[in-house]
Amino acid sequence: MAKTVKLNTGAEMPIVGLGTWKSPPGKVREAVKAAISAGYRHIDGAFVYQNEAEVGEGIKAMVKDGVVKREDLFVVSKLWCTFHEKSLVKGACQKTLSDLCLDYLDLYLVHLPMGFQAGSELIPLDSEGLAITDGTNFLDTWEAMEELVDAGLVKAIGISNFNKDQIEALLNKPGLKYKPVTNQIECQPYLTQEKLISYCHSKDIFVTGYSPLGSPDRPWAKPDDPSLLDDSNIKAIAEKYKKTSAQVLIRFQVQRNVIVIPKSITPQRIQENFQVFDFKLTEDEMKIILGFNRNWRAVPMHWGVKHKDYPFNAEF
Ligand code: NDP
Repeated sequence: MAKTVKLNTGAEMPIVGLGTWKSPPGKVREAVKAAISAGYRHIDGAFVYQNEAEVGEGIKAMVKDGVVKREDLFVVSKLWCTFHEKSLVKGACQKTLSDLCLDYLDLYLVHLPMGFQAGSELIPLDSEGLAITDGTNFLDTWEAMEELVDAGLVKAIGISNFNKDQIEALLNKPGLKYKPVTNQIECQPYLTQEKLISYCHSKDIFVTGYSPLGSPDRPWAKPDDPSLLDDSNIKAIAEKYKKTSAQVLIRFQVQRNVIVIPKSITPQRIQENFQVFDFKLTEDEMKIILGFNRNWRAVPMHWGVKHKDYPFNAEF
């Protein structure tokens, strides 16, 4: 059984899920099937990954074959930034549901606090290469997200890439109907996020950690960037437990109650990344790994730096 955490709605969310960003059509269907066969019950997707139809095919095949029931899965998707206008939110969610061939999502996240000009470009850019705002405010977008819960399209709503001040603004919004259940943020030993995690936990909001392995396949990776999977300190801990570096990186998050969504399209790695419940890092090892923090982001979303709601200029 997959270990779960209890969200502020009372729902249980599996603490390890499969990431699907950069999982190309032609591969992601099999990745989803391999994950469900390996015991995963949580799939993390998004409209902007442009592969939800195939993610849906993988889910559908496993449900049809009786390997899993829909209600035993926890399916997450995200509202992309070009759909922040209140009038666009429901249609965006319905498009995701129809691509996934599902009648409801377990969790729908506001992918980023920034709204971008609506249209066919996923990231509409100005002449400086910076994202063009749509002038929306995420507090208004949130009201349209709340309506999705009332309409039965989604069981829960959450946020992603929100900083502390943005979360606080949301929690203090007059007339707030539903609190976010999770904030999905980058989280790995070079960006340990201790302050933001502790703030979220104090508000009964779970954190989901993305890019837990440092996102080695991110398109903008440079040869000199730090590499978690090759970090000799992580390797040394892995050797002690006869585990891999990836397993240590995933276990580190599980042990601090951070939901974690490693991405892979390789069946053997998909299995490996789920084998993290049969060993335990010591308190000293947890502290040592926290000491690797250097506030390094694998996913800095550089095209958003001048947006009024760019989240990563704040301390946390
Ligand atoms: P990860 O840190 O999960 O790294 C994925 C990379 O690691 C792939 O190249 C994969 O290769 C490789 N890999 C996976 N398992 C292993 C292993 N056991 N040993 C060695 N290499 C391995 O990166 P992501 O950036 O993809 O983050 C995970 C997920 O988080 C995303 O897929 C997405 O769902 C979510 N995310 C959300 C964001 C947001 O803004 N909310 C932003 C970024 C990510 P291969 O696939 O070839 O096996």
